[in-house]
Amino acid sequence: MKKTVKDIDIKGKKVLVRVDFNVPMEDGKITDDFRIVSSLKTINYLLENGAKVVLMSHLGRPKGEYNKKYSLKPVAERLSELINCEVKFLETEVPANGDTVALADSLKEGEIMLLENTRFVPGEEKNDAELAKLFARHGEIFVNDAFGTAHRAHASNVGVSSLLPAVAGFLVEDEIKYIGNNLDNPSHPFVAILGGAKVSDKIGVINNLLEKCDSILIGGAMANTFLAAKGYDMGKSLVEEDKICLAKEILKKAEEKGVNLLLPVDLIATDSLEKSTNIRVVGLGDDMKGVMAVDIGDETIASFSKIIKDAKLIIWNGPMGVFENEKFSKGTFSIAKAIAESNAISIIGGGDSALAVKLSGYEEKVSHVSTGGGASLEMMEGKTLPGIAALMEA
Ligand code: ADP
Ligand code: MG
Repeated sequence: MKKTVKDIDIKGKKVLVRVDFNVPMEDGKITDDFRIVSSLKTINYLLENGAKVVLMSHLGRPKGEYNKKYSLKPVAERLSELINCEVKFLETEVPANGDTVALADSLKEGEIMLLENTRFVPGEEKNDAELAKLFARHGEIFVNDAFGTAHRAHASNVGVSSLLPAVAGFLVEDEIKYIGNNLDNPSHPFVAILGGAKVSDKIGVINNLLEKCDSILIGGAMANTFLAAKGYDMGKSLVEEDKICLAKEILKKAEEKGVNLLLPVDLIATDSLEKSTNIRVVGLGDDMKGVMAVDIGDETIASFSKIIKDAKLIIWNGPMGVFENEKFSKGTFSIAKAIAESNAISIIGGGDSALAVKLSGYEEKVSHVSTGGGASLEMMEGKTLPGIAALMEA
């Protein structure tokens, strides 16, 4: 286990915190402050315990140069409102310089500032040693609470971790606890539910889970490629032709390892996603000429739900259908319901899956919805994330 903010003395110390304030913006306005709200637990803990807090984050992709569009100023303002206290912010064209260091030095206990976008300089994404040193001058302790970038070695996470005592914030701690620990030491029956757009995005995840779980339930467009591998004509469905061989290998591997791999037995099909006309249920082997599979059918929902019911640990990545369209959301939302009704520890990873669970209304009933897209996938692949590896061991 990694050290967390609770394991170190922070009173009176300058604490540099890497947060994930990469919020969606439109015309300079924040359209969803979920990520800011999520980081309040760590921020408030530090402020209440007498730290001098210096926050840093990236926002969007300014490609290593200043761009007002990606300024964190609106974020500093929103955070000020949320914590009801001034968040000091210098409008600089670089994330850090002598002025920001001086401002950090002038902070009193319980005061807080935010640096400008870490990606306003090219050194951030190159994990440049000089930039990391400059960042490190803003703190005596480093806290990483940005899980979304933990799979990248950047100056503001990995770089500073080698220069300051580095610990996890509460968000990162949760991700390690749920995804890391449960995968290292799974309870059984362990059921993996996989879906989404492509097999190719998730090969690493499938391979790692094949080693650990008892059942794998596959839906979404991913299932189309597996069904094609079993010889079914999938009509106009999204199938990755160049991954059919791989799907065959995975099917074989599952059999060898005694993993119960389930594919859909019925599907919801339509002529076209745009018009969503001629919607009908198709069984395996039915003529799919001119139609595409866009959701799992009722029989599949029932068979997947039965396995979910008895699970002790569930990992879900990838929606069961085109859930963005209400007409094709039943499969995904029904699986969310089955997970919510089970007694299993349930972990949801992946950006679209997190959104799907939220829309289903069952978010509160699952154990953990990961805040990282790419980072949670890499963790599910069993990879060591550089941003986490760089933190001190407890
Ligand atoms: P995550 O972000 O959770 O890892 P993905 O990005 O892999 O998930 O997949 C999500 C996308 O997959 C959604 O936009 C959804 O519409 C799409 N999808 C799911 N099932 C199908 C299908 N049968 N045909 C086409 N697209 C699908
Ligand atoms: Mg996605």
